[in-house]
Amino acid sequence: MSNYTVEVPDGKERGIRIECDDHGESAEFQPGYRKVAFHCEGCGLEIEVDLHDLSEWRDLGELC
Ligand SMILES: [Zn+2]
Repeated sequence: MSNYTVEVPDGKERGIRIECDDHGESAEFQPGYRKVAFHCEGCGLEIEVDLHDLSEWRDLGELC
């Protein structure tokens, strides 16, 4: 199993960047995706990353 690096830059625009450490394949996703799928040719694998916005969770809590 290869290692993957997932980067979520700070700031309001929460894009996400995923990189396969072993093969150097990387993909960038625009902000707004809840789930992104990254495919690495070298690994022959596709990984899915779920994004959970903590600020949204806080909003839900305030509704209770
Ligand atoms: Zn790979």
